[in-house]
Amino acid sequence: MAAVFLVTLYEYSPLFYIAVVFVCFLVTSGLVLGWFGWDVPVILRNSEETESSATVCQKQMRQVKNPFSLEVTSPEVASLASGVALVLDCLEDCLLTCYWGCSVQKLHAALQKHAYCLRIKTPRAFEDAVQDEYLYRQQYRIKKTDKLGKSCVLPAEAQITELGPVPRSRYPLVALLTLADEEDREIYDIISMVSIIHVPDDSYRLSCRILYQYLLLDQGQFHDLKQLFMSANSISPPSSHPPSGERTEDRVLLEKAGLAEDDPEPVDENSKDCIVCQNRAVNWVLLPCRHTCLCDECVKYFQQCPMCRQFVRESFPLHSQKE
Ligand SMILES: [Zn+2]
Ligand SMILES: [Zn+2]
Repeated sequence: MAAVFLVTLYEYSPLFYIAVVFVCFLVTSGLVLGWFGWDVPVILRNSEETESSATVCQKQMRQVKNPFSLEVTSPEVASLASGVALVLDCLEDCLLTCYWGCSVQKLHAALQKHAYCLRIKTPRAFEDAVQDEYLYRQQYRIKKTDKLGKSCVLPAEAQITELGPVPRSRYPLVALLTLADEEDREIYDIISMVSIIHVPDDSYRLSCRILYQYLLLDQGQFHDLKQLFMSANSISPPSSHPPSGERTEDRVLLEKAGLAEDDPEPVDENSKDCIVCQNRAVNWVLLPCRHTCLCDECVKYFQQCPMCRQFVRESFPLHSQKE
């Protein structure tokens, strides 16, 4: 039936073929130029169109205030025998509880318990969560005005000289920071910080370092703090910042939840060191590589990190852009 119709059409209308060829031409042009919104191989599009259509998505951020800060000073001299020097800079009065030889398995189970049922707000809650699986416990009260270092030394009576060969079932030191006052726990979303610290001993000489730092939230989440990678000249020396709650740890990011640290340090007017234009202040963090090397203008032009060439999946600004 259709064939008869086409044959009739052909006989009576010599223009039919011309029309068919023209329609085919239109459809092909439409496909190539992307009129129908289908994905066309990039090679067929012109370069300007490619740049504008592929933008890196911006990560949704939420600011939270972190009352805790803990760092290890002079890690090269720290050891299980001589102790570890910690620097604490907290916004409120805190309790620092050091658990020496804390079970790896129980600690990670405790973090899961925090997420599902038992919130770790106090040292007692932590001890319940790890089922008292640690070798020795020390506690210090840290005043918010104290910006001094705290030396944590394992006393001789603990009789712990080494934790055996690797792989180990215990972390050398787990430092738990919790808010000392009941009222403060209502103010902050972040209720405690767990720092897992490697401390060298006779059987394993790797130098002292913080392995992980987890921030525990009142709502049950916990987040692994990560470092950002910035060029050295964009970070002002710590001495130029008075200890007024602005801490170097402001440059950490909470990658998993997309939480930004509170109160980012104001960028120094002199630090115009975007690695591309060398003219404006660095402001953008690229994920997943965490390089922080682009300014507000240059970030638009990059789908790959200019430092490591890794494709940028998401990005977020350190400071919200001024209108
Ligand atoms: Zn720039
Ligand atoms: Zn990178």
